[in-house]
Amino acid sequence: MAQAEIGLIGLGVMGANLALNIAEKGNKIAVFNRTVERTREFVQEAGALSDQVIGCETIEEFVAAIRPPRPIIIMIKAGDPVDQQMALLKPYLSAGDIMIDAGNANFRDTMRRFDALKDSGLTFIGMGVSGGEEGARHGPSIMVGGTEESWKRVEKVLTSIAAKYNDEPCVAWLGENGAGHFVKTIHNGIEYADMQMIAEIYGILRDGLKMSADEIGQVFGTWNKGRLESYLIEITEKVLHVADPITGKPIVDMILDKAGQKGTGKWSAIEAQTMGIPATGIEAAVAARSISSMKEEREAAEKVLGLPAVAPLAVTDKAAFLKDLEDALLAGKIGAYAQGFAVMAGASKEFGWNLPMPTIARIWRAGCIIRSQFLDEITSAFTKAPDAANLIVTPAFAGLVKETDGALRRVVSAAALGGLPVPALASALGYFDSYRRGRGTANIIQAQRDFFGAHGFDRVDGADSHHGPWGSGLGG
Ligand code: NDP
Repeated sequence: MAQAEIGLIGLGVMGANLALNIAEKGNKIAVFNRTVERTREFVQEAGALSDQVIGCETIEEFVAAIRPPRPIIIMIKAGDPVDQQMALLKPYLSAGDIMIDAGNANFRDTMRRFDALKDSGLTFIGMGVSGGEEGARHGPSIMVGGTEESWKRVEKVLTSIAAKYNDEPCVAWLGENGAGHFVKTIHNGIEYADMQMIAEIYGILRDGLKMSADEIGQVFGTWNKGRLESYLIEITEKVLHVADPITGKPIVDMILDKAGQKGTGKWSAIEAQTMGIPATGIEAAVAARSISSMKEEREAAEKVLGLPAVAPLAVTDKAAFLKDLEDALLAGKIGAYAQGFAVMAGASKEFGWNLPMPTIARIWRAGCIIRSQFLDEITSAFTKAPDAANLIVTPAFAGLVKETDGALRRVVSAAALGGLPVPALASALGYFDSYRRGRGTANIIQAQRDFFGAHGFDRVDGADSHHGPWGSGLGG
C-alpha cells in the first residue's frame, strides 16, 4: 500500500472529521487513536473514503505508514495529553518529521514545545483550527505557526482541506512557533465578544421590549441580510426559532443561563493585559460568562437587591430603535475586532512574528465561527492601510464608527436607564470615547501618583519639572 501523505492522532469529534476531510480531498492519511476500538470504528464508518485511510493500532505501525518527512497532526484533548502523546511518539520519529498540535493550545505551551524540539532534528507546528465539527469536516479556517520549511511540507494538504472564500483558501502560515495558536486564541476572544454583544442585544429585545423568541429570531434574520451578515447572527436566528420537543416552548427559554468556557477567551484577555493593550470587549465578555455561571449567587442577590428600580424601557418608535440596535451591534463589533487586531499587532512585535493582518482577516472570512462579510471589509482596510495604528482609524472604519456610534450611545444609555446589563456594548462605547479623545483625564491620576508615591509626571509644556509642589504630602 502507498504511504500516507500525512498522519493524524486523535479520532475524537474534531480529529475524525478532519481526517475524513483530508481523505475526501484525495490525500492518503494514516490514523491512530489511543483507544484502539475507536480506530476500528472510524475506518468502518469511513465508507467509500476508507481506501484513503490507513487505520493503525500501534504507534510504530502508524509512523511507518507515513511518507517522510512525516507531518503528524495531533488532535487530542489540549494540555498535558499533548505532552504525553508527543513523548510517546518522539522515539519513533526521524529527522525532519513534524509534530502538529491542532488542538486549542495555549500559545505559550506551543512556544515551549517548539523550543523543546529545536535541537532534536524534529520540528513542531502549532495550528489553530476553527469551525467546530462542521468546519473540520467540510472546510475549517486554519492558522499555522512554525518554520517556513515545515509549512511548505504541509501547505498542499492544508490548502486542499481549508474553507474557501471566493475560491481563496482560508489557511495561511502566520509566522514562527506560537503565531498560529496566538491568532486562534484571539479569534476565540473576538468570538466571545461577538457572542456576548449578541446576547446583550437579545436581552434588550427580550426583557426591554418583551419580544418572544420567535419575534427576536425574525429581527436577527433581517439583520443577517444586512451589514451584520455573519455565521453567528445566522445561527442566532436559527436557535431562536427552534421549539423544545418536551414542552413545545422555544428551546432558548428552556436553556439555563449559565455559559461555559474552556479558556481561550481568558487567555486572550490575559495576554492583552500582559502587553498593556486594551481588549475591553473580550474582558467584558469573559467576565459576563463568569457572572453567568454564578446562577445561585445571582438568584440570591436578586432576592436581596431586587431588579433595578427603573422605569421600563420607553420606546416610542420601535422601527427606529431596532435600527439603533442593529447599528449599535455593528459599532460594538467594530470595537471588539479593532481591539483583537491591536492585541495581535502588539504580540507580533513582542514575539517577532510579523503577523500579516490582512491575511488573518482574509483566512477568517470563511470556515471559522466568526466568519462574516465584515471580515472582507477588514481585509480591504488593512490591505489599504497596513501600518494603521488601529482598525478604527483606517478611512473605511473611521467612517463606520462615526456613522454608528450615535446608535451605540443611545442603546447603551437606554439599557442603563432600563436596568439592562450591556457590559460589552458599554465597553465598546467607553473605548471609542477614550481612544478618540486627545486630552484625557490621566493627568489627575499622575498627580495622585506623584502625591502619594513621588512617581513623577511629564508636563504638557515639556518643561523639566517632574514632581508637584505638594508640600508635606509627598511620600517615598
Ligand atoms: P474529543 O473529546 O471529541 O476527543 C478527544 C480525543 O483526545 C480522543 O481521540 C481521545 O482519545 C484523545 N485523548 C484524550 N486524552 C488523551 C491522552 N492523554 N493521550 C492520547 N489521546 C488522548 O475532543 P475534540 O475533538 O472536541 O477536541 C480536540 C481538540 O480540538 C481540543 O484541543 C479542542 O479544544 C480542539 N478544538 C475543538 C473544537 C470543537 O468544536 N470541538 C473546535 C476547535 C478546536 P480516546 O478516544 O482514547 O479517549
